[in-house]
Amino acid sequence: MVSETNQYQSKNVCVIGAGPAGLVAAREIRKEGHKVIVLEQNHDIGGQWLYDDKNIEGEDPLGRNPFLKVHSSIYNSLRTQSPREVMGFTDFPFSTKKGRDMRRFPGHVEILMYLKDFCEWFGLREMIRFNTRVNYVGMLDDYGVCGNNLKWIVRSKEKNSDKVVEEVFDAVVVATGHYCQPKLPSIKGMDTWKRKQMHSHIYRTPEPFHNEVVVVVGNSFSGQDIAIELVGVAKEVHISSRSLDTITEGFSKVISKHETLHLHPQIDTLEEDGRVIFMDGSCIKADTILYCTGYSYSFPFLDTKGMVVIEDDRVGPLYEHTFHPLLSPSLTFIGIPKKLLGFPFFESQAMWIAQLLSGKKVLPSWEEMMKSIEEFYHEREVAGIPTHDIANFEYCDKYSENVGLPPLQEWRKVLCVSAIINSFVNLETYRDSWDDDEVLQEALQSPYFTQLGLED
Ligand SMILES: Cc1cc2nc3c(=O)[nH]c(=O)nc-3n(C[C@H](O)[C@H](O)[C@H](O)COP(=O)(O)OP(=O)(O)OC[C@H]3O[C@@H](n4cnc5c(N)ncnc54)[C@H](O)[C@@H]3O)c2cc1C
Repeated sequence: MVSETNQYQSKNVCVIGAGPAGLVAAREIRKEGHKVIVLEQNHDIGGQWLYDDKNIEGEDPLGRNPFLKVHSSIYNSLRTQSPREVMGFTDFPFSTKKGRDMRRFPGHVEILMYLKDFCEWFGLREMIRFNTRVNYVGMLDDYGVCGNNLKWIVRSKEKNSDKVVEEVFDAVVVATGHYCQPKLPSIKGMDTWKRKQMHSHIYRTPEPFHNEVVVVVGNSFSGQDIAIELVGVAKEVHISSRSLDTITEGFSKVISKHETLHLHPQIDTLEEDGRVIFMDGSCIKADTILYCTGYSYSFPFLDTKGMVVIEDDRVGPLYEHTFHPLLSPSLTFIGIPKKLLGFPFFESQAMWIAQLLSGKKVLPSWEEMMKSIEEFYHEREVAGIPTHDIANFEYCDKYSENVGLPPLQEWRKVLCVSAIINSFVNLETYRDSWDDDEVLQEALQSPYFTQLGLED
């Protein structure tokens, strides 16, 4: 994947976004000797973990606007899907702290606190310009493009000012996340259905659905979580799933336990009088349709003259999900892959970018990167797996090795897998009851958890 050089250059770098990916990018790129500015549209760090229930009223319920008002899609009751021990950056364990949420699968506030601790510990705030939204990123001169020598124009606007600030950077790192722009299915009658339709992007609490008949479209993590908490409040909850074969044992158990929770196939048609007709011909009258149908990649500020393309849930062409063969390393993307342990992976992406910008490492040739990308896309198409779904520890270890990081600890892998299996079988209880205590103790006593001397 990588070759090394002895040259060194210091660059003027703009990181867009102060979520987990942007924060670790700023740290690594500064550590490598570059000058870094982070532009963040929100008033604080945290990205998705900066819960926002204040601005949802003003948001388009289906999120059809590419520049959305609200970034975070986190709902109030959200607890992590993976245990805290496996989530942390490689040199900053996500330890428990007295007086805070000490659960293994903590609520969203605790992740924000962890990220704030991370920011504090490494002095990252001074690099961040808050309340500053990037509206445009484009090449200063796209004649004879070459990834390393390109410069980028970045236009941004501070929240309470009309002034657009234009700056030129040697490199831009896009760390704007991808759980913000709602992805919607296309359903007959959707545009003329008169009752409430919204995407889970603006779902926060179950109370507004009191006594309603709600159809939850989609049964992945958010769909399941939200349907379960709606059961206590709504009159009826109907889950519509693309494939009934994908219902886990854990979710089946929940459905059979609650009389007001029903499972249906995909929706066929929405009728103007409020009827929802499913593919099997069954029909109900609903008050609300809540789309838990995921999110699309979206970079509304990015002008690459068509060189970076988003199609079919793919941002491309990107070598190793990070580098465009013509535009990188001056333009790079952090955090595109899904289904992996995000924080440590972002860290290895950040390190690779930092080392490429300083000239310590060089990317393979354009031909080699394109060949690798095409082979990978082909493999994915044959296997029917979305391009950026990783679900592979070996891939992450190989990626870390490139930048001199050790592979993920064995206990991280074991604890991660055991939580997934537990959630498949015991959906309602996996966050509070488990049987991997032995490995957990091994993890907590390992040098990883004692490295900072902060353990309680
Ligand atoms: C419902 C839900 C549950 C989740 N659960 C988990 C979990 O249990 N475990 C887990 O590891 N992950 C989970 N995630 C994924 C979560 O998104 C990642 O953990 C992580 O936040 C991704 O970090 P990021 O920095 O790539 O993106 P984000 O956290 O989205 O941060 C991006 C930042 O970029 C800023 N930004 C965007 N556009 C602009 C712009 N134009 N100008 C300036 N700033 C901009 C945003 O304001 C934001 O601060 C969940 C996500 C959702 C939505």
